Amino acid sequence: MLKIKRALVTGITGQDGFYLSRLLQDKGYKIFGFTGDLGDAGAIIRVVEESQPDEVYNLGGISDLGSAIANPERTMKINYEAAINLLNQSRKVNPNVQFCQASSAEIFSKSNSAPQDENAVYGPANPYGVAKLRVQQEIKRQRDEEGIFACSAILYNHESPRRSEKFVTKKITMTLAKIKLGLTKILELGNLNAVRDWGFAGDYMEAMWIMLQQDKPDDYVIATGIPHTVKDFVNVAAKYLGIELAWEGTGENEVAKNSSGEIVVKVNPEFYRPLEQNAVIGDNSKAKSVLGWEPHTSFKELVELMTEEDLKYAKTLIQ
Ligand code: GDP
Repeated sequence: MLKIKRALVTGITGQDGFYLSRLLQDKGYKIFGFTGDLGDAGAIIRVVEESQPDEVYNLGGISDLGSAIANPERTMKINYEAAINLLNQSRKVNPNVQFCQASSAEIFSKSNSAPQDENAVYGPANPYGVAKLRVQQEIKRQRDEEGIFACSAILYNHESPRRSEKFVTKKITMTLAKIKLGLTKILELGNLNAVRDWGFAGDYMEAMWIMLQQDKPDDYVIATGIPHTVKDFVNVAAKYLGIELAWEGTGENEVAKNSSGEIVVKVNPEFYRPLEQNAVIGDNSKAKSVLGWEPHTSFKELVELMTEEDLKYAKTLIQ
């Protein structure tokens, strides 16, 4: 009889945890979710012992840059120390454990080339990126020196209807849906020309699972490779909602008006980043050739999926 695989997933209540657990469920796994405080070393030991995992997916931690920058020490504790603790405890309980770490494109923030592949020059620009890079380097060290099966998925921005509004994508789709229904009037954004490589979280979780089904562990850039601006995102969402936008002005004075001439989108410098990083674009060639992975969801499909869900939600706000 085929053994039922056991997976331990941290951050299971988050966006990525939702998509990964759905996928693991479809594949017949027994899933254990860790929802407590990752900084509680005793709780980590207990959950690893209880779950006896074959596979561990470390998705938990502080996930938005604003919180990470505001709390650097907590970020190192949760995103770095707790991750290493989880890896070490998992190895103790099961020396053959297969471990997948959610790493991040933030490790390449100061990299001066784009797109970035696995060999791009590292350069984190904030505590979040530093913590992710340190975990990734320790995983590689243990893999090279001690022969463990552990991978880092260097995830580029990955979104879904389950994203929090701290991220620009969800802020755009939710606010425009509310504008469509007359629940609010203006969407205020920071840098409209910021470039990101946005993919669908569900596709990215599939990549993490595929990494653990290989004969050899390795690190992979998981990205679409296709750059888009914040303004592109706004345009696709507005079009889906039937809001016609006409852009005028530049810099802080740039606005988008609807067909009645009302301002719908404007710039608010409060949302500018102190240090805007280089183009965050991933080169996914290695994931494509070695894992046979590629994103199934296009940029347009992603924006439309998020907008559709937010429109449904916004409708429930109307009495
Ligand atoms: P990040 O890549 O993890 O920082 O993801 P975000 O979704 O928070 O930000 C993506 C890009 O959108 C960044 O370059 C921001 O400068 C830009 N951006 C523009 N306006 C906003 C805004 O109102 N909120 C956020 N969060 N980002 C914004």
